[in-house]
Amino acid sequence: MIDISVKNMKGVGAKTAEYLDKLGIGTIRQLLKHYPIRYLEYKPPTKIAEVNRDEEIVIKATISKNISLTGSNKKIATTKLTDYIDVIDVIWYNSPYLRATLKQGESYVFVGRFSKRSKNTLEHPIVYTIEEYEKKIGGFKPVYALTAGINNNAMEKLIKLSFDYIDDKDFEEYLPQSILEKFLLESRILAIRNIHSPKNKSKLFEAKKRLAFDDFFRFLYGMNLLKNKRLRIKSKNIISNEVRYVEEIKAVLPFNLTKSQENVIEEILNDMSSGIVTNRLVQGDVGSGKTIVALICLYLAVKSGFQGVVMVPTEVLAKQHFKSMSEILNKLENPPQIGILTGSMTKKEHLIVYEKIEKGEIDIVIGTHALLVENVKFKKLGLVVTDEQHRFGVRQRSTLSDKGEDVHVLVMSATPIPRTLAIILYGDLDISTIETKPVGRLPIKNAVITEEDREKAYKHILLEIKKGHQSYIICPMVEESENIEAENVLDYGKKIADKFSQNCKVEVLHGRMHQKEKDDIMSRYLNKEIDILVSTTVIEVGVDVPNATVIMIENAERFGLATLHQLRGRVGRSELQSYAIFVRTSNSNIAKKRLEIIGNSNDGFYIASRDLVLRGPGELFGLAQSGELDFGIADIYNDNDIFDMAKKAVDMIQCGDMGDEEMEKLEIKINNYMDLHYKKLAL
Ligand code: ADP
Ligand code: MG
Repeated sequence: MIDISVKNMKGVGAKTAEYLDKLGIGTIRQLLKHYPIRYLEYKPPTKIAEVNRDEEIVIKATISKNISLTGSNKKIATTKLTDYIDVIDVIWYNSPYLRATLKQGESYVFVGRFSKRSKNTLEHPIVYTIEEYEKKIGGFKPVYALTAGINNNAMEKLIKLSFDYIDDKDFEEYLPQSILEKFLLESRILAIRNIHSPKNKSKLFEAKKRLAFDDFFRFLYGMNLLKNKRLRIKSKNIISNEVRYVEEIKAVLPFNLTKSQENVIEEILNDMSSGIVTNRLVQGDVGSGKTIVALICLYLAVKSGFQGVVMVPTEVLAKQHFKSMSEILNKLENPPQIGILTGSMTKKEHLIVYEKIEKGEIDIVIGTHALLVENVKFKKLGLVVTDEQHRFGVRQRSTLSDKGEDVHVLVMSATPIPRTLAIILYGDLDISTIETKPVGRLPIKNAVITEEDREKAYKHILLEIKKGHQSYIICPMVEESENIEAENVLDYGKKIADKFSQNCKVEVLHGRMHQKEKDDIMSRYLNKEIDILVSTTVIEVGVDVPNATVIMIENAERFGLATLHQLRGRVGRSELQSYAIFVRTSNSNIAKKRLEIIGNSNDGFYIASRDLVLRGPGELFGLAQSGELDFGIADIYNDNDIFDMAKKAVDMIQCGDMGDEEMEKLEIKINNYMDLHYKKLAL
């Protein structure tokens, strides 16, 4: 019965069904899965004098005056309440019936808030008899996502009612007993009951644990199936791991590869030459040298007769990679053909590149999202690299690799993410980590300053410029705004140019400029024709100008820690001592705390973990809210323990010897789940 329409429930008419439909609820199952978004605790009542007038309050009080009905329709009920110390007013809208139910001289429990207009008026409180309320104390009232036409009480009633239409079979257990016992999991049906009306904290906890476990378990199990399937595919796409090709590139590099880079290259090449389809994440903090790793792999793909493609999130970065990779490749005796494809190129230019890619005249193409369009067809695509992967949606990962057969995929990211999220986002991937930065890199020196110290900062910048180095100054805004008090690139650029006119060349850069202008400025900056670049965060990711040694970030508290760390990564890219100056223009505690973290550490992983604590779930990666990771009740940021249990359970099943019947049941469940969720994730 669980999959019948909600219309079959007693008292649910066409109108209610229509409202529910707006919440995506059509069946009883969907109604039961409409879990509360939060809970209100049934707290013990307090005295009026003790309440916090900005919060929801619970008081036990006596009705001290007959209820009067006012308003044009006599539907507004008002009276006074007292706890024999204080007296307050109370008002209910649209509730003439209260006159019959609430009696003068009787005591009740009232739960509600004070009116915004009158601080002594309790507005539309819920009323409980004292006995009724006492039974609830310590329990939780579920709060649901609602839509016009259904209020929270109505939703609560509907869900209660829906339990009459199901039986235990509807939530048959699919996990083996051994796992339930090991991880102390309650039954699903109990969990669903308790999630909607928990009697106390521990019941709520147990319910949440079971349901979150299910979310994680099915996801991880499904992911394992996918990975195993991938590992079983015998690929025809074999990329040579011949050392001589690696040596050819190494011979033309102006530096030696680090041990970390060598290891990662070896890992990838072993993968790509082994006859399986590679899906690998290359992780490494900013400046660890990921680009060259990608280039060597691309070169080997070309040597094996394939084409390769690199996708990056910004045009600035595409241009930069194109330039730096071309420079290296062109030193080879037999350089591969390299091309670029970005959104700002003309239609005609696009068509020319499309044709060359399709004919195989371009071996390696570097580009932005522009690569994803249907017209980009490869002759023989063998390797896809996505740089700064965290900037792309989870879904975009497969769009490019679908342009070839058994395509190997490398994704590169500097953004260190918590382990749980890494497994969720990249769990079907193997992971390589570039552990160290190139030798000779000095740790960046950080300073968090306030506005009074700006002059000192400028002096320092000038000093660096005198040594022949360059500097970035980052502002949050492009131009002046009426509403936001923060530095803007255009005014700041002028100010700095005036100030330093004799000593250095200043330019501005921001996202609203034409691409040609941006390119021109970036290449002049790279050629040391510009000393100070006043820019927005357009240079946040990937930009590589090793001669830049100072970055000064205005209104630093306005940026997230991850962004600040990425911005700081624009310096410290050579053996020169580099500096990051964070200008704090807010006195708030959170601003101070954040900047203290970035000022005291250069370690991306540490910063990410602190960021998570400060900013809380959801906000950090902009993923949870966008619905790309739809985990019902599990919270990918805070439910680490449950996540670990689910992971262990998956491992247990993988290695253990479950009965055929049990296994079959499990697989059916998982397959259903995959159908529902995987297409969406396109992992
Ligand atoms: P990221 O990991 O942030 O993408 P890049 O690949 O842009 O880093 O490399 C940062 C800088 O370090 C570049 O200028 C690059 O040429 C240089 N580099 C890379 N590997 C080495 C190395 N082994 N030794 C010295 N410099 C290196
Ligand atoms: Mg990079």
